Amino acid sequence: METLDCAVIGAGAVGLAIARRLALAGREVVVLEAEGSIGNHTSSRNSEVIHAGIYYPTGSLRARLCVAGKEALYRYCPERGVEHRRISKAIVATAEDEIPTLRRYKEQAERNGVLDLTWLTRDDMAALEPNVLAVAGLLSPSTGIIDSHGLMLAYLGDAEAHGASIAFHSRVLGGATCSDGIVLRVGERDPLTVKCNLVINAAGLCAPAVAHSIHGIAAATIPPQHFCKGHYYVLAGRSPFGRLIYPVGSGLWHGVHVTLDLGGQVKFGPDLEWLESIDYRFDTSRAGSFYESIRHYYPALPDGALQPGYTGIRPKITAKGEPAADFMIQGPREHGAPGLVNLYGIESPGLTSSMAIGDYVADLLGLV
Ligand SMILES: Cc1cc2nc3c(=O)[nH]c(=O)nc-3n(C[C@H](O)[C@H](O)[C@H](O)COP(=O)(O)OP(=O)(O)OC[C@H]3O[C@@H](n4cnc5c(N)ncnc54)[C@H](O)[C@@H]3O)c2cc1C
Repeated sequence: METLDCAVIGAGAVGLAIARRLALAGREVVVLEAEGSIGNHTSSRNSEVIHAGIYYPTGSLRARLCVAGKEALYRYCPERGVEHRRISKAIVATAEDEIPTLRRYKEQAERNGVLDLTWLTRDDMAALEPNVLAVAGLLSPSTGIIDSHGLMLAYLGDAEAHGASIAFHSRVLGGATCSDGIVLRVGERDPLTVKCNLVINAAGLCAPAVAHSIHGIAAATIPPQHFCKGHYYVLAGRSPFGRLIYPVGSGLWHGVHVTLDLGGQVKFGPDLEWLESIDYRFDTSRAGSFYESIRHYYPALPDGALQPGYTGIRPKITAKGEPAADFMIQGPREHGAPGLVNLYGIESPGLTSSMAIGDYVADLLGLV
């Protein structure tokens, strides 16, 4: 049987950030990735926004790791030449009855340690974003955009510079916990059996399935796995917006919002479609609801301006209609298996939080 010090399952932004962190702590790390390249799933199908940490419940992992992760990214990206821009975001109320929600966002942000939001009057909004119809707004100056692929390459580069390696086409099929580690079965054609001291399950959409396949992890500790797709439409032509625009939404979903990528392309989305299984197909029949929703704050959207872009799938651990869950990161204390960490429900703001998640996992394992 082969032996490994530390296996990270999954080469998305979160798995790679953890691999980097553990390699920097002096561990011998191998990343086991089912696909033939990095970042094939959620990490390359998202909004690429560096979130400020405004909306999440105070004290939740999403709130804490988002704020810490944002600060870490703004230090790391310039050091490693990862393309990013502190472009800012306006959260906009399009009707008077949405203003109390804006006020609540500001208070929630302050409780989360996000102290830089400023109030925008109707006139401020008209001056800042003349194409946006708004009666008031909040400006978040620390919201940014990032090249997620560049970030993953930087994480991988750092990890490799500290002795880590990556094995593609290495799907984890299952395994078992034992008294001094975890045994994994890896690879579809000629599966290898590998004994590991540490295993980090960062398999994103498949993390609950991977946990169920490892004998010895109590099923009661594994959350259900749900999938919720988001579609993005892109806008033909030049951007009518100077920053990200988020309409006031309901609950933790903020409507069809505007993001810009580093090339200046405007994207609208993501919407919400609950799925039974992973399916990235784009449903073009959703265009009508996008036009309607966008015209609440951008009335000049011309007919025919939206083009289908791409989709991404949120790794949900609560079902449709249930409150959004916090990130669930379980170490030995939660599931009883020494050397194992499972990461579940790492949806937004997982990209922003990735470096802070790396620190959190190192801490759970007692590494410096
Ligand atoms: C629509 C959408 C928009 C989002 N927007 C933002 C945003 O703007 N800002 C932000 O901060 N966050 C955002 N997020 C969240 C962010 O994209 C995710 O939190 C992050 O990308 C998750 O990374 P990951 O590494 O956990 O998962 P993934 O990127 O999905 O990586 C998991 C990896 O595990 C591999 N894998 C799966 N099963 C196995 C197996 N059995 N063996 C080996 N490998 C396996 C997969 O191939 C994959 O490469 C968004 C998410 C969605 C869905």
